[in-house]
Amino acid sequence: MSKEITARSQDYAQWYNDLVLKGGLADYSPVRGCMVIKPYGFALWENMRDVLDKKFKDTGHQNAYFPLLIPKSFLSKEADHVEGFAKECAVVTHYRLKNDPDGKGVIVDPEAKLEEELIIRPTSETIIWNTYKDWIQSYRDLPLLINQWANVMRWEMRTRLFLRTAEFLWQEGHTAHATAEEAIAETRQMLDVYADFVENYMAVPVIKGVKTASERFAGAVDTYCIEALMSDGKALQAGTSHFLGQNFAKAFDVQFSNRENKLEYVWATSWGVSTRLVGALVMAHSDDDGLILPPRISPLQVVIVPIYKGNDQKALIDEKVNDIMAALKNAGIRVKYDDSDNARPGWKFAEYEMKGVPVRIAIGARDLENNVAEVARRDTKEKSSYSLDGLPDRIIQLLEEIQQNMYDTALAYRKEHITKADSWEEFEALLEEKGGFISAHWDGTAETEAAIKERTKATIRCIPLDNPQEAGACILTGKPSKERVLFARAY
Ligand code: AMP
Repeated sequence: MSKEITARSQDYAQWYNDLVLKGGLADYSPVRGCMVIKPYGFALWENMRDVLDKKFKDTGHQNAYFPLLIPKSFLSKEADHVEGFAKECAVVTHYRLKNDPDGKGVIVDPEAKLEEELIIRPTSETIIWNTYKDWIQSYRDLPLLINQWANVMRWEMRTRLFLRTAEFLWQEGHTAHATAEEAIAETRQMLDVYADFVENYMAVPVIKGVKTASERFAGAVDTYCIEALMSDGKALQAGTSHFLGQNFAKAFDVQFSNRENKLEYVWATSWGVSTRLVGALVMAHSDDDGLILPPRISPLQVVIVPIYKGNDQKALIDEKVNDIMAALKNAGIRVKYDDSDNARPGWKFAEYEMKGVPVRIAIGARDLENNVAEVARRDTKEKSSYSLDGLPDRIIQLLEEIQQNMYDTALAYRKEHITKADSWEEFEALLEEKGGFISAHWDGTAETEAAIKERTKATIRCIPLDNPQEAGACILTGKPSKERVLFARAY
């Protein structure tokens, strides 16, 4: 298979697909919109999952698992929820196949029709709140802090590997609280957990904000989000945290007796991030030579490649590398010694570059004589000669430097790509010529929001949480606006 990667400048979408496919992250599947996550891509997801899982547990949550199939009637109990998800539901109608009487193959057995159709979960609020009804009676049962790791299915029409698939892996937190204040605090806490993860592990800066009513999760009172910027200037919603008010408690009749022994409906939140984050990582950092992965979640942090002629040289290098490997592994570094003799060093270099491994160490016979190794960092592609004395410590420090540099680079790009627009002409010109986030006034109506989207494909990504209150005039209608919002074309 050719490892040629399409240049970003030539065709950004193709460049992205090349990285995902040739970088060994995923493959297409026979079913449109679904994908096979390959071992390298799954290792990346596992590393993300492990960090997040720990953060959820550190904030008091427990994991549980709820069924894949949801009775159709459950979905319609919350009116906004069903309206939002109806258009993308996969429905199970039968439970058996039989031989086709007219020929080869099998058909759906019409006699095996389900009495009540089942929905493959697009999200689990309904089945979970139906269960919480049995789990919550008194204020002593609250708060209930549950997370599940699962797959969900949304019949997306325009799909893209990782970023938007029909089936995706995610976690969904579902919590129940005695008061609105507590539920809102939880919603905000989990948004902070996501922002901390995406910034400090994925090295992708995010903007925390709240969605407008039209972009809100179906059934939520408020949807908070983190928005990231990809290297083509398009935005990506990287995670959401919803304050659900008492909507689901009312729909599923989940009440608790409070300290005064009075019945009250429970307050709810839900929050999720998905395998979309893998796509975010690819698009935020990589270049025309392949992936660039941040050390903290890269499946492999360091690769060591020997350069030798003959077994004697190899034995000397092996001996030195074994010490380096032991020291790095001891420090918890994910390191591999690629001494396979079925590929030349140059081929290996290109391969690990493609896979985005943060640090590559090459050691040759002459290096050993000089007590040095050649160290190449993937982010800047700089190569330096490092002394073998104290090399493991220097490498550990270098991994931190790479992590920081990747974040700083992405942040500088993001800062450069938040631009104010004060007129419609300016707004349109910015979208066409520069992209990124555009900070502009909007009159607060769903009609204007829709009209702007219709004309430009730009949506309101969020109203930033740290927004300064600054009155102005809507870029489209000229009507009064109390603050700027962030627009962008988005994935
Ligand atoms: P939601 O339940 O719609 O708030 O979405 C929860 C998380 O899943 C968000 O971080 C979304 O960005 C992500 N997400 C939503 N739809 C998809 C999809 N089709 N593929 C991958 N991730 C998705």
